[in-house]
Amino acid sequence: MHPPQFTADPPSTEPVEPDSTVGDIRPASSAPNTDRVPHTYDVIIAGCGPTGAMLAAELRLHDVRVLIVEQKTEPASAVRIVGLHIRSLELMAMRGLLDRILPHGRQRPASAFFAAIAKPAPKGLDSRYAYLLGIPQPVIERLLEEHAIELGAQVRRGRAVAGFEQDDEGVTVELADGEQLRSRYLVGCDGGRSTVRKLLGVGFPGEPARTESLMGEMEVGVPQEEIAATVAEIRETHQRFWLRPAGVGVYSVLVPAAGVSDRAEPPTLDDFKHQLRAIAGTDFGVHSPRWLSRFGDATRLADSYRVGRVLLAGDAAHIHPPIGGQGLNLGVQDAFNLGWKLAARIRGWAPEALLDTYQAERRPVAEAVLDNTRAQTELLSTEPGAQAVRRLLTELMDFDEVNLHLLEKITAIGIRYDFGAGPDLLGRRLPDIDVKQGHLYGLLHGGRGLLLDRTERLTVGGWSDRVDYLADSSAALDVPGVLLRPDGHVAWIGDDQQDLDDHLSRWFGRPAH
Ligand SMILES: Cc1cc2nc3c(=O)[nH]c(=O)nc-3n(C[C@H](O)[C@H](O)[C@H](O)COP(=O)(O)OP(=O)(O)OC[C@H]3O[C@@H](n4cnc5c(N)ncnc54)[C@H](O)[C@@H]3O)c2cc1C
Repeated sequence: MHPPQFTADPPSTEPVEPDSTVGDIRPASSAPNTDRVPHTYDVIIAGCGPTGAMLAAELRLHDVRVLIVEQKTEPASAVRIVGLHIRSLELMAMRGLLDRILPHGRQRPASAFFAAIAKPAPKGLDSRYAYLLGIPQPVIERLLEEHAIELGAQVRRGRAVAGFEQDDEGVTVELADGEQLRSRYLVGCDGGRSTVRKLLGVGFPGEPARTESLMGEMEVGVPQEEIAATVAEIRETHQRFWLRPAGVGVYSVLVPAAGVSDRAEPPTLDDFKHQLRAIAGTDFGVHSPRWLSRFGDATRLADSYRVGRVLLAGDAAHIHPPIGGQGLNLGVQDAFNLGWKLAARIRGWAPEALLDTYQAERRPVAEAVLDNTRAQTELLSTEPGAQAVRRLLTELMDFDEVNLHLLEKITAIGIRYDFGAGPDLLGRRLPDIDVKQGHLYGLLHGGRGLLLDRTERLTVGGWSDRVDYLADSSAALDVPGVLLRPDGHVAWIGDDQQDLDDHLSRWFGRPAH
């Protein structure tokens, strides 16, 4: 197959009619040679990592026919512990998944994420889920995949997306074994080396890796007290080093990779021992590794998240160093933002520009994450200037506002999408407040919009097939009413029905009656 036939995003003046009649994509002069076979799927997702699985589940909430094509035959097995931050925990709570996830992870205080500067959690963290959940990445991937399958998504493993062509009605996707599949949309959730992004010809500018690190979890052969003293001394000058408890009897180890040969090969325990001896004069008797990995600090952002009927999400759209543990969180949140919008498009009720808001909202968020990882990377440098800035920031973080601001960045609870002028809450996520039925997030499991009405006299009228209604004069809110999008962001605030109707149209299309 050839690279895609389209060079630019379609205009956002797309009709609101059901998707099969959309004529939004302008074929280039040579029309794609597709047989226009009927769409077997509404959406094909390349990649069953956390982003792809989350997206599939979100689409299934709206009965969208989804296929995930995953090149690996088996789910990932290398156990890398990742941290789920507050906003991701909130998303899981919104879909009723958190209770399934919590038993597999370890809750830690919401603190010391920014450049690993040790500070207590700031006051004023406004979330019912104000902690970090350390959880093995394969476990979170498995739980999300199971959730997507339970909701009706199909997953085909051992199959890779190798090519595609798009036309005015859909996308013909070619797998590596030559099979062709047809869908209305294709989403590349296929990781940092994304085939879909490359075939789309979307630029991925940024900085190549400057430094590489080895990270892993293993047991140690010396007493804790001995480790603590040596590690504290080394960390005064080496920020790219740690050896710290990560569970019963297990330590997390980070060392520079400089000097470790053959980047193409996975690192070995001997590599870690060698680096530890070089930096600490001892290898601490490390043994029994749980997982070992090597990563760089390459930082890149896709120029575009969408070309016609093909979209990108997760690492396929952005890569950055793992400092602060944000990549998986960012990808899952991309999926949460995109899912209901793409579903609305397929169901036929999406307002004209709704799908365009995916890039408009999520690309700036990724840009900000890339920036904070660049800043954190600098703060880990051993250069005297960087060390001085680090000391200064360490002092500044004693101010609660500074500490909170940085934590809100890393945990993604500080995000405010630009929905136009309005109160500060507009465009932000609404925390999981108490409502008369219990918790607000318990009402969002279906992935629908919600009008929370303290005046008890508003209505969702002709949008009731897409938007739920809760009259609750005692809800813990200091505004009369809020309209929540399916991703939990506040799309409207007020008490005026006409104004509300305008905003319902803006986000949820024409009323059904
Ligand atoms: C050492 C380290 C520690 C990290 N710690 C954290 C952390 O604490 N918190 C955090 O949020 N993030 C962390 N990350 C980042 C996180 O692992 C990634 O951001 C996350 O895996 C991205 O998810 P994804 O689904 O977008 O992509 P991936 O996880 O890369 O999944 C992509 C999937 O697509 C499949 N695929 C690829 N090509 C094709 C194709 N052509 N056809 C079909 N399938 C294909 C792949 O097999 C893979 O299963 C860390 C990363 C590293 C390296």
